[in-house]
Amino acid sequence: MINMRNLEVDKIIHAQRHKLGPTDNLPQDIDFYREQVKQFNKGPFYVCPAGGEYTVGQQDEEPACSVHGTLSEIKKSLEFMYKEKRLPESRD
Ligand SMILES: [Zn+2]
Repeated sequence: MINMRNLEVDKIIHAQRHKLGPTDNLPQDIDFYREQVKQFNKGPFYVCPAGGEYTVGQQDEEPACSVHGTLSEIKKSLEFMYKEKRLPESRD
């Protein structure tokens, strides 16, 4: 969840920095975004604890994990767990 949210933010930052329009293509290689955050923090970055592969997606698409699904799918399952009073695994 934290990974996916950060990835979504990184996409927005990249688009703003390069003055991209809403239909311009974003880099789709997850390693590109790993390199970007490496400059500011210590890793590991964008590594799914369950071994899932991340799909970046374009500006109108959500990031997705091959194990956990899209950001909104993860949110839905977290909401379900909150309702069931189970502790969520939040590091998607
Ligand atoms: Zn995952």
